[in-house]
Amino acid sequence: MRADPADHRDGTVAVIGGGVSGLVAARDLARAGARVVLVEEGDRLGGRVRGETVDGVAVDIGAEAFATRGGAVAALLAELGLADEIVRPAPLGSWVVTGTGAVPLPAAGAIGIPAAPLSRDAVRALGPVGALRAAAEPMLPRHLGRGGSLAELVRARLGPRVLARLVRPVVLGVHSADPSDMTVADVPGLAAALERSGSLLAAGRELRDSRAAAGGAVAGLRGGMGALVAALAAELDRAGVVVRTGVAAGRLEAERDGRGRRVWAVTGARGEPLVRADAVILAVSEAAARRLLGAPPAAPSGRVEVVALVVDDPRLDSAPRGTGALVAESASGIAAKALTHATAKWPDRARLFGPGRHLIRLSYGRLGSAPATGGLGDEAALRLAVRDASRILGIELGEASVRHMIRREWEAGNARQGDPAAGDALEAPPGVVFAGDWVSGTGLASVIPGARAAAEEAARTTIDSDGATVPHREGAQQR
Ligand SMILES: Cc1cc2nc3c(=O)[nH]c(=O)nc-3n(C[C@H](O)[C@H](O)[C@H](O)COP(=O)(O)OP(=O)(O)OC[C@H]3O[C@@H](n4cnc5c(N)ncnc54)[C@H](O)[C@@H]3O)c2cc1C
Repeated sequence: MRADPADHRDGTVAVIGGGVSGLVAARDLARAGARVVLVEEGDRLGGRVRGETVDGVAVDIGAEAFATRGGAVAALLAELGLADEIVRPAPLGSWVVTGTGAVPLPAAGAIGIPAAPLSRDAVRALGPVGALRAAAEPMLPRHLGRGGSLAELVRARLGPRVLARLVRPVVLGVHSADPSDMTVADVPGLAAALERSGSLLAAGRELRDSRAAAGGAVAGLRGGMGALVAALAAELDRAGVVVRTGVAAGRLEAERDGRGRRVWAVTGARGEPLVRADAVILAVSEAAARRLLGAPPAAPSGRVEVVALVVDDPRLDSAPRGTGALVAESASGIAAKALTHATAKWPDRARLFGPGRHLIRLSYGRLGSAPATGGLGDEAALRLAVRDASRILGIELGEASVRHMIRREWEAGNARQGDPAAGDALEAPPGVVFAGDWVSGTGLASVIPGARAAAEEAARTTIDSDGATVPHREGAQQR
């Protein structure tokens, strides 16, 4: 089924972006009875959730897990019939590589704030002086360190070692941004928790299990997160959603239809009409949303690159760094910011590859700086990745043991740009709803509930817009 661009039918919602946010929003809208047209510029759906097949095994090259907090992802997976496919990572823990070596990452609250600074693992990571400094934090004046960057807050309250060895590596790993470039407001829920307790240690613990925090317990899908995208795409197909891949939306213009009602005209990159809709969900990055709405560009974002290696080396069967490791800046000579030992983390994947064969994912780059692998040819990237993996894992790996390498660059940085007080934050015009991690926070546990809320808002907007309504389809399931 193809949309007739010139045609505007009541109750049409355009969804721009076919990542998980767009797919989830489109599904909910279709179930509520809307006519949905989804436009994705890439050749396939899923956005930053992307599975590739190596040796017949599905390998995640984007998101590989979801945080279990809040239960929103598990609820969606159950609706999609994937509840039995949820797998837990092996309970091996992860490590942090610092200037003084590799140590297990201590149990942490939000953004790597140690849950118990005097625990054995925390003392090992921070040293006795660093651990005592952090443990004294609740006795500091409530307002110490407030008002500056996230890095200044952590340094002032918990000391430089917590910042350098725990918070910076965790924040770089999760947000692809340096805490010096972030404020407490960029970590959902942290400012409010800090306000309530007056202590950063207590705020970190409070957020650990809360809906808003990044990090914490995670789960995955047997066969990789690509299964979520496949299940969503199949539902859209069954629901009659018009899905157009390989088509970039270029511009959104408000118009009046023949009856004088406001509709949104979505045109393609060359100005060709794509769809006219009562409401539009922009499930794209903020930079793309600004382009579509003709708003001034946001601050430049960075790039991250994932380099996945399939390696034959039985020494890795012992999972020398648990499920993987984060790299602190002080660990000189390592360009990667994190390594996931996927076959140690996901036993189902290890079984499929068989003993002695391992999947290792390295990630490079952060907001505001190009990845060290950027611009490198495959040979040089392989050399760098093998060198970094050897240093992180503490095992000298040979380039000859690498059976496959997959590289993929992604846009980094999803903190919302602009300051509402200064009037340069991007505001959604009536009938347009934003979705994605720049709106609801990084990761699937945040973007999925965000996309569902966006779908509800778009449905409401459509009903409210000058008389146009979302028709209620017979038998459509309302949430
Ligand atoms: C390397 C990496 C690892 C990650 N690991 C995890 C993880 O383990 N767990 C986790 O929860 N999260 C993880 N994340 C974050 C998670 O992937 C994202 O939060 C989530 O996938 C965002 O989904 P989205 O649909 O909002 O955005 P995206 O997936 O970015 O989708 C946006 C889509 O819009 C399309 N688009 C853009 N402009 C246009 C246009 N003009 N017209 C049409 N289409 C357009 C893009 O092609 C893209 O497909 C990771 C991210 C990366 C990069």
